[in-house]
Amino acid sequence: MDTFKLANYLFPNVKMTPEELEARFPERNAPEGAVITRMAPSPTGFVHLGNLVQGLISERMAHQSGGVLFLRVEDTDAKREVAGAVEVLISTLKHYGIRFDEGVTVDGEAGNYGPYRQRQRADIYHVYAKKLVEQGDAYPCFCTEEELTDMRQLQEERKVNFGYYGEYAIWRDRPFEDVQAAIEAGKPWVLRFRSTGSVENKFKFNDLVKGVLNVTENDVDQVLLKSDGIPTYHFAHAVDDHLMRTTHVVRGDEWLPSLPFHLQLFRALGFKIPKYVHIGPLMKMDGNSKRKLSKRKDPELALTYYKAEGFPVRAVYEYIMTLLNSNYEDWRKANPTAPSDDFKFSYKKLNPAGALFDYAKLCDVSKNEIARMDAETVYSLAVEYAEEFDPDFAAVLKRDPDYAKAILAIGRGGKKPRKDLATWKDVKPYMGFFYDEYFASEGFPEGFEPAVIRTALETFLASYDPGDDASTWFDKVKAVTAAIGFAADMKEYKANPDAFPGSVADVSTFLRVAVTGRTNSPDLYTVMQLLGSEKSVSRIRSAMEALA
Ligand code: GLU
Repeated sequence: MDTFKLANYLFPNVKMTPEELEARFPERNAPEGAVITRMAPSPTGFVHLGNLVQGLISERMAHQSGGVLFLRVEDTDAKREVAGAVEVLISTLKHYGIRFDEGVTVDGEAGNYGPYRQRQRADIYHVYAKKLVEQGDAYPCFCTEEELTDMRQLQEERKVNFGYYGEYAIWRDRPFEDVQAAIEAGKPWVLRFRSTGSVENKFKFNDLVKGVLNVTENDVDQVLLKSDGIPTYHFAHAVDDHLMRTTHVVRGDEWLPSLPFHLQLFRALGFKIPKYVHIGPLMKMDGNSKRKLSKRKDPELALTYYKAEGFPVRAVYEYIMTLLNSNYEDWRKANPTAPSDDFKFSYKKLNPAGALFDYAKLCDVSKNEIARMDAETVYSLAVEYAEEFDPDFAAVLKRDPDYAKAILAIGRGGKKPRKDLATWKDVKPYMGFFYDEYFASEGFPEGFEPAVIRTALETFLASYDPGDDASTWFDKVKAVTAAIGFAADMKEYKANPDAFPGSVADVSTFLRVAVTGRTNSPDLYTVMQLLGSEKSVSRIRSAMEALA
């Protein structure tokens, strides 16, 4: 078969040569060891935690090494495309601190290695398709859907591997005349790769995350170009990552089964093989077993979830870092205020089997993150969240910003800051009692006579002076305790609990419930200072009335 004749016949309009493309997209002038990598999402509109994980790994590997991170949009499957998906992707990733140096942008693209949208690269793919045909490494296949389905059925009956290979590859060695006749008859065709691999052969391949893999050769003549001339993921991957001078391909390990084919393609095209970083899926515990996070079952897979729950962006970022590099947490403890980019990220620490997502741990990281913020920041982020998800509460917070900030300043800073807030959603239940519209009582603890509680509150009011400092205030609480026959000294109480009906802790709780409605609150003295004596006293009075 004259492969040049076939190539010219199939691609009469291809005028460019691979050499011209090589010259147009030269090797990058990057420092030694720089990682050039990319995110290559399909614009389906759903941005998930896996995208963020992949983006973060790529971003760190690129920028930590003085390299480049670019965004390529893999829009070869027009059916799956959702309008506005690229904008959502870019803005979401930016929100989480992932910025691209080049590639697709919200209003076009930037960089010298484009176009970065695959559908705009058809003429480039065709140059290499033609080259493969010339080399005898690719050929057209005119099989209909029906023929392929029958073939699959036959393979099922024969209990052999599925696919277009060996005797099933019926267009592999057809003479030129057959091809010509089919094209003249207007039959649609795809371009297939002529595989010389055998499933009997295995070879070793070193993946940067998975380690040395024992890989089986590919013997299937996979599709390179679909009948509309648009490439498959595989072909586009080889051409694009070569021409865009990608050094490291960071992608989900669902692509691992296609790796043998990709390696064949790079070799046939004469391209240098990039380094591969195949990352495992995000896992979660389901009962006693681990499973992949699923789009259908797990709302926490969607990035919109974290926003709606009110996790600070930085908390999600910090959490993912702890997921990816187990030493991040210790580093963060030692460097509480350092920018996260100072941490030395390592792909070597990625778990080859995939990271285990743990909601409780995320909350923990988030509590620490919020505890590190100053009241001003907490206030503005809480307002921003409430404006979108709880406008009434936003209005309340904005009514008196200084009041809200003073509340949020309680227990902030210092060696052991309070950690009440894991999300912005927690702000309202945490501090709502400071506002009359959200004040509601949980009720007093069980096991005490209402009359006793009432007396305690009454006694307190009799001595209460809003001008007292914290220690005088507490001395008065102790005096109340002693007056009602409870233990004012905790040591004494613990040594002999049966000798007292209760302790100063219980009396504090009575007061706390009266003032805040809850058994748990920030420091009560400070709370009363902020609420003001009028409101504090009136709440204590109402509680007494309710007890009567
Ligand atoms: N478009 C592919 C995907 O979304 C990209 C995989 C890759 O990074 O190569 O899975």
